[in-house]
Amino acid sequence: MRRHRIAAMGGDGIGPEVIAAGCRVLDAVAEADGGFTFTTETFDWGSAMYRATGRMMPADGLDRLKDFDAIFFGAVGAPDIPDHITLWELRLAICQGFDQYANVRPTRLLPGVVGPLREDLGRRIDWVIVRENSEGEYSGVGGRAHRGLPIEVGMDVAVFTRAGVERICRYACELAMTRPRKKLTVVTKSNAQRHGLVMWDEVCAEVTAQFPELTVDKMLVDAMTARMVMKPETIDTVVATNLHADILSDLASALAGSLGIGATGNIDPTRKRPSMFEPIHGSAFDITGKGIANPLGSFWTASMMLEHLGEGDAARRLMRAVEAVTARGEVLTPDLGGRATTAEVTDAVIAALKGANL
Ligand code: NAD
Ligand code: MN
Repeated sequence: MRRHRIAAMGGDGIGPEVIAAGCRVLDAVAEADGGFTFTTETFDWGSAMYRATGRMMPADGLDRLKDFDAIFFGAVGAPDIPDHITLWELRLAICQGFDQYANVRPTRLLPGVVGPLREDLGRRIDWVIVRENSEGEYSGVGGRAHRGLPIEVGMDVAVFTRAGVERICRYACELAMTRPRKKLTVVTKSNAQRHGLVMWDEVCAEVTAQFPELTVDKMLVDAMTARMVMKPETIDTVVATNLHADILSDLASALAGSLGIGATGNIDPTRKRPSMFEPIHGSAFDITGKGIANPLGSFWTASMMLEHLGEGDAARRLMRAVEAVTARGEVLTPDLGGRATTAEVTDAVIAALKGANL
């Protein structure tokens, strides 16, 4: 029996609600598969801990996580704590501390879900956005001086390294090669950002040249937003900087219907440290505690985590169960126009998992 050790960390707001639902579904997947089990440990780190102790996670937090096979993460953010604190001291502390340098976001319009694009366009969305997750515009380098004076200055320095660009581009090429269309779009803004992003273009040209079967094109990020809306079928795998891909991937999620569905993985491709998987949405204060958070993003996240753990069959089985539920259109949460609760959607997916035809 294969055993996977999971650190489940709900975080704030609806995070714990959707991660608890995800853990129920993961146990059901393991039971249906029969070849593996999960040992799950729950961590209550986040804003409540910050209010009590002044820290979003214990000082030895990374040490306590380092031996898990994966981290299943909810969301961070609370109305009474600045977002840059909750983000940097928990989520980014883990991403950067474990050098999870590839952030991977698959996007598809699930059956039964209505997106904002015309149906014939929306159905053609089948993308994976690969975001550089360790440096660039979110390097944390910068500073503020002369506070409050007319000469006050604030700087966020975008740091690009050859090694950083090389490894994310290689990861994106390898990922694109596993997909049927074998197609990669390299996104930058190297007309305006004439140092780091010109280097990005050069390094990506060198790396992609090592993948002769790959179809590669280049696009400026502003034009890319228009292409995603107007010609979604021309896009397959995308690689971009931390900031650019952050923005593109939110657009991608919106085009796929709801923030409540999308999933993402923060991957350490070297597998020396645990990777972290999370739904894309935030802590959603407006619906916290109401029992109506959409858990499908957490389930898609769980499927990505299964794939990473080498349980590809179980990962696909879980997505088929999710799609069977969305396609029926009866058991959906309010964000998808339905009236179901988190628990009802979870029960429906577990029932679908037990269905013989999956
Ligand atoms: P949000 O994703 O929390 O919510 C945006 C809207 O989408 C809300 O109306 C919310 O109710 C809805 N929504 C989100 N997830 C849903 C789900 N699963 N089911 C149903 N509806 C859902 O984004 P926000 O309001 O901009 O941010 C709230 C807090 O979350 C902020 O503190 C922000 O910093 C944080 N945040 C964290 C992450 C993260 O942890 N990765 C991501 C985004 C935002
Ligand atoms: Mn974002």
